Amino acid sequence: MRYYPHREVNEEGIKTTIAETGEYSSRKRLHICCSHIVPSRTAYQIIFYPMAYQPPVHDVIVVGAGPAGGMTAWKLAERGARVLLVDQKSVVGKPVKCGEGMSGFALESNGLPTSASYIVKPVEGTKIVSPNNNYYFMKEPGYCVDRAALDQWLVEQAVGCGAELKLSTHVKNVKNVKNVKNVKNVKNVKNVGGWRVETSDGIFSSKVVVAADGAWSRIGRMAGLPGNSRMSKGLQYKFDISQCPGELKDREWIRFYFGSAFPEGYAWAFDRDRELSVGVCGQGNMARALKIFCKRIGVDASKRREINAGMIPVGGMNASVSGDAIITVGDAAGLTNPISDGGNHVALYSGRIGAEAIMEYMGGSAGALKDYENTLRSSPFNHPLMQEGARAMHRLGDEAWDFFAGMAYGKTFADVSKREKAGAFIRHPKNLLHLRKAMTISRAARIYRRYGW
Ligand SMILES: Cc1cc2nc3c(=O)[nH]c(=O)nc-3n(C[C@H](O)[C@H](O)[C@H](O)COP(=O)(O)OP(=O)(O)OC[C@H]3O[C@@H](n4cnc5c(N)ncnc54)[C@H](O)[C@@H]3O)c2cc1C
Repeated sequence: MRYYPHREVNEEGIKTTIAETGEYSSRKRLHICCSHIVPSRTAYQIIFYPMAYQPPVHDVIVVGAGPAGGMTAWKLAERGARVLLVDQKSVVGKPVKCGEGMSGFALESNGLPTSASYIVKPVEGTKIVSPNNNYYFMKEPGYCVDRAALDQWLVEQAVGCGAELKLSTHVKNVKNVKNVKNVKNVKNVKNVGGWRVETSDGIFSSKVVVAADGAWSRIGRMAGLPGNSRMSKGLQYKFDISQCPGELKDREWIRFYFGSAFPEGYAWAFDRDRELSVGVCGQGNMARALKIFCKRIGVDASKRREINAGMIPVGGMNASVSGDAIITVGDAAGLTNPISDGGNHVALYSGRIGAEAIMEYMGGSAGALKDYENTLRSSPFNHPLMQEGARAMHRLGDEAWDFFAGMAYGKTFADVSKREKAGAFIRHPKNLLHLRKAMTISRAARIYRRYGW
């Protein structure tokens, strides 16, 4: 009996098992790629099919195993869909391209436990630092997470519910072939769309495709959906915290630094117990901005032990995130929080509601994917005030940041009395010019605090 080429075959020839623990490595991938995975109590049972066997058509192929794709695959598989989750990485979640901060609401509202392997530590909220090092606090409980562990946790849930995972597999092209009868090797699929997904490891077919392939998403564009209209750059170094100034150790708050040094963005310093992550995002030369920022906070950039870099969609949700039997989710759909530029929360959210919409669509509701788009469009992440708030933040000059951070120095804005605010303006009346921008930011911050970063 022959088996798929280049696969590992154990002595029994038909079945083998792998340990459930540990991250998905390329070694496990060899097993996972060629097989159907049946979760059991202690191990994933892997069944090898002979060469002549035609793999069943998948209901949904999800391209990208980040938080958006992992969540989509999980929620689809949980409802009984036959899901294939594909990622070009050899290890889920690695390398990380993230500052790894998330609000508690982001996890809880999407049904993720706050006591899992991916939690590094809880934080009270954010400390906002102005150019002259004035600072105030924004209370919004959240977590420093381990993003690779979070992505892996989501994929484990998906696989546990029966999804198939293919790693080290680059999706080269997707084609909506409509009449699936014309597609080689595909049987028993009714005309509910029909995708031919060409990968570096063969061609697969499905009824629906989910583009969860991140900020540069090509999958959506191949299917005729628009890509991201505007991006920021993100760059982060990680340091051993014991080699950093003690002043940067902060058990309760993660720090954000604003001002003209970070055009249309900001810098951050997160104490993650054993490591310190220091990063910048925005427009312009991020490598230079990060070098200067490291100097400002007294960290020796040459001692970094990890570099994480990537693009962040900042142009707002794409004009269209659903098409004929396809949706985009997460960064691929242009979904980030305009105030924080964070995308983990909305990646989880879009994956979750995207999966629900796909199940309805496959159940015969033709408008379900459009409804997904409309739900996202009316979500808080897409509230016009959030974009306005972000623009107002970008236009606030250094002096104004110093003034407002000085007004609430060491407290939250909720702790500043009207009298104190009036006194600050009387002492520095020219800042009245920035009052309108400050009000816009404050209104946007209210939405931000309610729905989490
Ligand atoms: C430096 C930096 C710091 C950040 N910090 C934060 C933060 O602190 N908090 C926060 O909420 N957000 C943060 N973000 C944003 C956050 O990382 C993203 O919004 C989030 O990763 C989006 O998840 P996603 O699943 O949509 O995409 P991704 O996480 O990018 O996942 C996409 C996946 O698709 C795969 N893929 C792509 N193309 C293909 C293909 N053709 N074939 C197969 N696989 C493919 C990729 O390998 C990848 O695994 C940060 C971003 C950057 C760059």
